[in-house]
Amino acid sequence: MIKRLRLLSTLNKIKVNREDKRNTCVGCLSTNATNGLCGPCRADLPVNHWHCRCCALPMAYPGDKHLCGDCLTSPPPFDCSFIPWRYQYPVDSMISRYKYKGQRKFARPLVTGFADFIGPALEAYGAEKPDILIPSPMYPSRRRKRGFNQARDIAESIGQAIDVPVGISIVRRVHKVQAQRGLNRESRLANLRGVFKVCSRVPERVAIVDDVVTTGATVRVLASVLREAGAQEVQIWALARTPG
Ligand SMILES: [Zn+2]
Ligand SMILES: [Zn+2]
Repeated sequence: MIKRLRLLSTLNKIKVNREDKRNTCVGCLSTNATNGLCGPCRADLPVNHWHCRCCALPMAYPGDKHLCGDCLTSPPPFDCSFIPWRYQYPVDSMISRYKYKGQRKFARPLVTGFADFIGPALEAYGAEKPDILIPSPMYPSRRRKRGFNQARDIAESIGQAIDVPVGISIVRRVHKVQAQRGLNRESRLANLRGVFKVCSRVPERVAIVDDVVTTGATVRVLASVLREAGAQEVQIWALARTPG
């Protein structure tokens, strides 16, 4: 009996610790967090208020109705982008810890925040909920090395929260490309030629999901292959956008 009670108390302790962790803020370690962030730390996230109407590039002047120079001179093959934060501190370090160190607790506040953001954002823009979420695909050997594809992980959590299916094998990465970091958009676009292959039927309205949109080269290439394969509307959903 005593043995069993001891076991029970140990199990309870483990449970309490787990719950403790669940309420701990990843920003300041206070214990009154919801979905991994306390109120003040959540209020400190760099919200992407002023941005391009199409690609969500952060802009220096108020509003979300203008197009950036890039979208004016070279209209992208997607319709609109929903990207709630700027890729600045602390969002950049939260995403890095999640992506490169596999610490999912750093993504949780952003993913749950995105799920809350997207409904009102679609309504405000006058856009419909997509038929399917398509995570930006990763080359298999790269995914094995990292252990997971963060875009798929994010799409699955958001899809589950807002009840939209995730198409994980609609489009594949069929060639490995050199790392995109440090390249400008033209080099990235050249680098990505022929990299994606559509493998099954593409629904009419799709959203490409990624963690961060940097120059927009990857989402441009993905959006055009999805359009060529029959998508009528392509939205971009991401957690953060790098400032121009
Ligand atoms: Zn906090
Ligand atoms: Zn733009």
